[in-house]
Amino acid sequence: MAPSSAHPSVPATLIPGDGIGPEISTAVVEILDVLGRPFAWETQEGGMAAVQKSGDPLPAALLDSIRRTKLALKGPLTTPVGGGFRSVNVRLREEFKLYANVRPARTLIPGGRYEDIDLVLVRENLEGLYVGFEHYIPIDGDPSAVAISSGINTRAGSRRIAEFAFDYAVKNGRKKVTLVHKANVLKALTGIFLETAKEVARKYEGRIAVDERIVDACAMQLVLNPWQFDVIVTTNLFGDILSDEIAGLVGGLGMAPGANIGEGAAIFEAVHGSAPDIAGKGIANPLALLLAAALMIEHVGKHDMARRLRKAIDQTLRDDGVRTGDLGGKATTKDMTQAIVHRLG
Ligand code: NAD
Repeated sequence: MAPSSAHPSVPATLIPGDGIGPEISTAVVEILDVLGRPFAWETQEGGMAAVQKSGDPLPAALLDSIRRTKLALKGPLTTPVGGGFRSVNVRLREEFKLYANVRPARTLIPGGRYEDIDLVLVRENLEGLYVGFEHYIPIDGDPSAVAISSGINTRAGSRRIAEFAFDYAVKNGRKKVTLVHKANVLKALTGIFLETAKEVARKYEGRIAVDERIVDACAMQLVLNPWQFDVIVTTNLFGDILSDEIAGLVGGLGMAPGANIGEGAAIFEAVHGSAPDIAGKGIANPLALLLAAALMIEHVGKHDMARRLRKAIDQTLRDDGVRTGDLGGKATTKDMTQAIVHRLG
C-alpha cells in the first residue's frame, strides 16, 4: 500500500545490522511496505559491515543520518571482541543521549508458561555502573589483582527517568509504577534514585499508584506473580537484567522489542543480538524487530497503522499457528513474513 498525502512516510534511518540483521530487516521492510510505508528509509551500514569498509562500526554517515532523521530502526550490531572497540550500542546511546530504554512485554502466544502478561520495563540508559569507570590495582606482579568499578547516578538523571516512566504510564493508560532499587545496600548509588523517584511520584498522586521493590525480591516476584506489575522503572544494570527476565516470561528474546528514547532522537531495536549461530540460514524470527517497528510507528503517532500491524501479528501467531524455530515451530523467516503480509492483505 502506498503512503497517501494525508499519511506521508516519515524519514527514518534503517541500520540492517550484522548476522541475522539483514534477514530480519528485509522481512520488516517488506511487511511495512504492505502496511502503508510509514517510513521513508535512509539505509546505513553499521557494525561489522562498516568495520570492514571504514574501520569504524559507527561511521560518520550513519551518525549524520540519525542526526537528520532523529529516528532509527536498528538491526543487531555485533560488537567486535578485542581491537579496542567500545560497544556500538552504548556509543549510540551516549551520542544521542538516549536516556530511557523502554521494553514492553506482552503475551502473544497462548499456552506458554504465563498467560496475559502485559508489563513495561523502563530502564535508565546512561548512568549507573554502565559508565564503565573501571580500573585494576596490581599486587605482587599480578597486574589485575583487584578490580574496581564506580557507578554514577545523578539526581537529574534519576528525576528524568522517573518522570519519563510516570508520563509513559499516564499516556498509555497504565495504573501503577514500581520503583526498583537496592538502596538497602547501595545506599548512595541507588538511594539517590529511590529518593528522587519517590519525589516525582508525589506529583502523580491520585493518577498513578506507586510502590517499590528491592531488585532481588522483584526478580523473584516476576517469576511467582508477574501480573502484580504494570510499569517498572529502575537503574541501568538492574534494568538490563530484569528486562531479559521479563522477555523470558513472554517467549524469549525473539519476541522482545526495545525503544531507546532521548531528547534529540529515538532508536528502536530488537533486544536480541546478531545470533551468529543461525545467521544466513533463513530461520531467524523477525518478530522482535517487527514489534520494535510497531513501537516506532506509535512513536510517530500513526496509531491506526500500529494497531493493524499488531492485529496481523496476533492472527499469524494465534490463528494461523505460524511460528519460527525459537517459538517451537518450523516456519522460516520468509514463511513468517508472508503469513503476516497475507493477514495485512
Ligand atoms: P544473541 O541474542 O545474538 O543470541 C542468543 C541466542 O538467541 C542464540 O542462540 C540465537 O540464535 C538466539 N536468537 C537471537 N535472536 C533470535 C531470533 N530473532 N530468532 C531466533 N533465534 C534468535 O546473543 P549473543 O549470541 O550473546 O550475541 C551475539 C552478538 O550480538 C554479540 O556480538 C553481541 O555483542 C551482539 N549483541 C547485540 C545487541 C544489539 O545490537 N542490540 C544485543 C545483544 C547482543
